[in-house]
Amino acid sequence: MQHTLAGNGYLSGIALHSGNRINLTVGPAPPDHGIVFRRADLPGRPEVRAVLDNVSETRRATTIADGEAVVYTVEHLLAVFYVFGVDNALVEMTGPEPPIGDGSAAAFVALVKQAGLTAQQAPRRQLVVSSPLYYENGEAILVLAPADDYRIACTVKYNCTPMDCQYLSLSVERESFISQIASARTFCSYHEIESLIEANLICGGSLDNAVIMKDGVILSKEGLRHPDEFVRHKILDIIGDFALLGCRLQGRILAVKPGHEVNIEMARRLSNLCNH
Ligand SMILES: [Zn+2]
Repeated sequence: MQHTLAGNGYLSGIALHSGNRINLTVGPAPPDHGIVFRRADLPGRPEVRAVLDNVSETRRATTIADGEAVVYTVEHLLAVFYVFGVDNALVEMTGPEPPIGDGSAAAFVALVKQAGLTAQQAPRRQLVVSSPLYYENGEAILVLAPADDYRIACTVKYNCTPMDCQYLSLSVERESFISQIASARTFCSYHEIESLIEANLICGGSLDNAVIMKDGVILSKEGLRHPDEFVRHKILDIIGDFALLGCRLQGRILAVKPGHEVNIEMARRLSNLCNH
């Protein structure tokens, strides 16, 4: 059966790009409503549904947009909704992006626990991968294959990490997510964000909410939380991006150096295949 939140959850924090304080409230929604974001700061409080058709940008984070309602960096919250089995929810925000927190999904896990869950009188939609799919772009490779459950195996390689080549395979469910994935933080190379810093486009960014790789070393206030923190965060992003399918997924995802662009493209191909 579909599930929604039993009550409201509330979170407040700094937005990565603007540096402004954002208030975010999550609450229940009726069956077949899906996950909808509402921009409470804009006239008319416009809404955008978290579905693949509304993905407007995949550089560095996943952005969804429907007219005036633009929301950046939806993937971490969507991943948490997915693993907790939240099919329907309304997310109200006072700005264009959720609070970045510590760059991980930990604050969103606390948010959904605060709101609680309740079952609804409607069946869930399920999407079963019935034949293999392959997509490659640059160094990124994604393969989807049939399986009895939902599993992700991912590998990444960065020259400056203590564990050069990182690999992790896990079953996508609540307990493994909380224990292995939720605390893994956003990371990027300094070179990737240098121009954004100079243009004042990431005013809220700091070593409080991201791990930075610069000239072969890791910049982080607390070191790494796991020797393979980066591959864990990549799995978090995959779960969040594929949550935009709007249904429960059954299949195996194999990912090599993935990013939002390949995740979303593969989710679109899977969705097209199932709708025809
Ligand atoms: Zn991420």
